[in-house]
Amino acid sequence: TSEKQTLGFQAEVKQLLQLMIHSLYSNKEIFLRELISNASDASDKLRFEAINNAALFEDDADLKIKVSFDKEKRTITISDNGIGMSRDDAVEHLGTIAKSGTKEFFSKLSGDQQKDAALIGQFGVGFYSGFIIADRITVESRRAGLPANEGVRWESEGAGDFTIEAIDKPNRGTDIILHLREGEDDFLSSWKIKSIIRKYSDHISLPIVMQKEEWDQEKNETVVRDELETVNQASALWARSKNEITPEQYTEFYKHVSHDFGDPLTYTHNRVEGRSEYTQLLYIPAKAPFDLWDRNKRGGIKLYVKRVFIMDDAEQLMPVYLRFVKGVIDSADLPLNVSREILQESRDVKVIRDGSTKRVLSMLEDLANSEEQADKDKYATFWTEFGQVLKEGIGEDHANKDRIAKLLRFASTHNDSDAQTVSFADYVSRMKEAQTKIFYATAESYNAAKNSPHLEIFRKKGIEVLLLTDRVDEWMLSFLEEFDGKPLSSVAKGDLDLGNLEDETEKKQHQETEDQYKDLVAKMQTALADKAKEVRVTFRLTDSPACLVAEENELSGNLLRMLKAAGQ
Ligand code: ADP
Ligand code: MG
Repeated sequence: TSEKQTLGFQAEVKQLLQLMIHSLYSNKEIFLRELISNASDASDKLRFEAINNAALFEDDADLKIKVSFDKEKRTITISDNGIGMSRDDAVEHLGTIAKSGTKEFFSKLSGDQQKDAALIGQFGVGFYSGFIIADRITVESRRAGLPANEGVRWESEGAGDFTIEAIDKPNRGTDIILHLREGEDDFLSSWKIKSIIRKYSDHISLPIVMQKEEWDQEKNETVVRDELETVNQASALWARSKNEITPEQYTEFYKHVSHDFGDPLTYTHNRVEGRSEYTQLLYIPAKAPFDLWDRNKRGGIKLYVKRVFIMDDAEQLMPVYLRFVKGVIDSADLPLNVSREILQESRDVKVIRDGSTKRVLSMLEDLANSEEQADKDKYATFWTEFGQVLKEGIGEDHANKDRIAKLLRFASTHNDSDAQTVSFADYVSRMKEAQTKIFYATAESYNAAKNSPHLEIFRKKGIEVLLLTDRVDEWMLSFLEEFDGKPLSSVAKGDLDLGNLEDETEKKQHQETEDQYKDLVAKMQTALADKAKEVRVTFRLTDSPACLVAEENELSGNLLRMLKAAGQ
């Protein structure tokens, strides 16, 4: 229908709009980065769809982004000739937030504007950031392949609703028209807009063009020429050589591919040649996304083939336990019409995936093993944000298990703190001379682990115990028998065999005590017949009268508790 309709925003959009205007006010120029980023994504999508349907280009295959402004009307317009939007696309994409976990994210907001404002950046704000400087946004769009009379105009003042109507739009693509708020006229300047584009969007691989403005000596004023000029470098950032890319450009590119507002923790950029030829530019974020635990969440790798965008979230290119890695992989070998199904089978993809996994692990090793305090701090941040996910790799990635084990960090009785900072190597370096095993305790919390009666004998003998309290730990331990030839041993399982850590006198004493209490043990065994499998005299306690232990190859008490809680 061509009639104008008014529709309401999804509740989360309203919340987002309000918070955003407050939180990002001091950083308002990022609206341009977000809108250019969307225009670039839209062009990537068109180029990809056109691989199998060249007619989509119509007679305009020269993809670019145009930024213009109108001083009288007080508007800034960002135009692209990318994939465009149909009416339904506009209603869906500009009226709702499609990101997974959105509801959960918003339910966590406290209502305290200051605190919530800090979270919003992490969520990513995208299109709606235009409302920081605009009190009205008009979007005019036509999807590639639809006739000229199936264009759409979407308009909103960013309060509760938006209108939508059909328009004629001869040229394919999208125009975003920002009607500036009172007091934002600073943005109506060629110089200002150009400097923002160079700062935030230089890495965009399409040309970003503007009307050329020049100083006219005779008229003694700037005049607008009937000519377009390209403002950015307009070449794919990852295809440039490393020494031509500044750290700022790497950071801005990260924000573009990740939809994250913060800076990345670290990155790696390489051109790989050999069996398979590809370029990888991979980043580790500084903060876990709110949907890190979403099982349906796909990875964060964009796949390109010879500079042509193929797909977002190419999960085949990175193992699940590295799903937090963001970036771009550009293959020189894959066919342009590659599908997710083909990716699954492809040997080239397997080579790329193995190579990229190794790259990410060595990037983490570089931080973990660095002598620089700044790197150590980065690794600590990484571990806090993503350590639990990395642990999944112990079970998932047999080939790299040993490398991953070296990257693990634990709380330990050595530190008397719940901070997970101790590596297996640290532990091994502090082992007693006669000690052959790495001892650990699992529990549902640090306090429970720390106060476990099982630790008493270890404290007395000054033997360090690793304290494992993450949900994934029990599962991980089932794949990890040893480190560096030293078996891992639970302090709560089996007959505690401290081996050479006990001297002959101790062993003799133990034997005597056991004999002495034989009758008592037998009586207790009968009394507890339906509760305990066996009653033993123990030497692992110093203060507590009794404790429960599991058999060597039984499920631990902690795991049983977790299974019960999960209804198993
Ligand atoms: P994101 O880019 O993270 O998906 P945005 O809020 O920036 O989130 O954009 C929301 C959606 O609106 C996009 O995913 C896209 O579907 C649509 N969109 C926005 N701008 C354009 C555009 N210029 N051309 C086509 N679609 C667009
Ligand atoms: Mg976006």
